[in-house]
Amino acid sequence: MRRIASILLLLATGALLQAASTDYFLGESVRQLGLRDVARQAGDGKSSERYATRAGVGFYAEYSRDHIFVDGIKVMLDDPIGFQKGHLTISRRDYDKVFVPLFWENPRGPVGRVLLDPGHGGKDTGKVNAARQYNEKAATLDTAARLKLLLEKQGIEVLFTRTKDVFVELEDRSAMAARLRADLFISLHYNAGPAGDTTADGIETYCLTPAGQRSTNAGKARSTTAAEPGNRFDAANILLAWSVQRRLVKATGADDRGVRRARFAVLKDLTCPGVLIEGGFMSSRREGALIADPAYRQKLAEAMAAGVADYVARARAPAQAGR
Ligand SMILES: [Zn+2]
Repeated sequence: MRRIASILLLLATGALLQAASTDYFLGESVRQLGLRDVARQAGDGKSSERYATRAGVGFYAEYSRDHIFVDGIKVMLDDPIGFQKGHLTISRRDYDKVFVPLFWENPRGPVGRVLLDPGHGGKDTGKVNAARQYNEKAATLDTAARLKLLLEKQGIEVLFTRTKDVFVELEDRSAMAARLRADLFISLHYNAGPAGDTTADGIETYCLTPAGQRSTNAGKARSTTAAEPGNRFDAANILLAWSVQRRLVKATGADDRGVRRARFAVLKDLTCPGVLIEGGFMSSRREGALIADPAYRQKLAEAMAAGVADYVARARAPAQAGR
């Protein structure tokens, strides 16, 4: 009994030491990444800090929040922002998987060929806007067709996981990225709230959860999941997700539900960087009506294309330029 107790004590002490040693001071960390201090703004939280990159991209962090705002866009963290000795702290995990990719490192690799994945199809209608008799599978296919034309104007070759109203298995969609040697994978979806809810709305963009980290919707339990093949592209994944989410939110004024992390089947086995976009809520009375409007889907496609262009510009810049 005593032996068990002492082992438990050892384990508990070990966990505490680790928690402390895996934290970094936020200010020190981001100054190393080339960011500078920025004056507080009216309405900032009591325990909050602001910084900006050399290029003027501002960012805001507040104690105990599970996210930061990068150029006003919500980016989910693995660990909430901490506070030690009067300063905000971040976890080493978040420094590696969020801060370095967004503020410092530029992705490498070609970006000449994009595989667009219109979600659902065939027997799988996806979410439904009953009032307008409009389905997610139709909305994603139409949005992908619009995005294709815009990406081609950037000189990007565009391929699809489906071009018709047919069912395609999730695993087959990501396998196509390997077979077709895609450089980027973009899965298009629209969302829905709980049954009967017509008010939930907003846009969110997912990238694959880094190994051992928590998916955004997974609650408090920390995952111990080993690396998925797609985790090779963690840095590129979050940069692409943020680039697209930023343009979507700024173009539409939609509620920013953030850059999120999930181990979606279409993302985890990818052989290239990829994201999954939830472009709004079919179930929302207001947003569902917008999604059913071709002009709005064109606006979404233009924002996505602009986000890809932003990403491509970083990918073609020298590595580790220091933003
Ligand atoms: Zn969907």
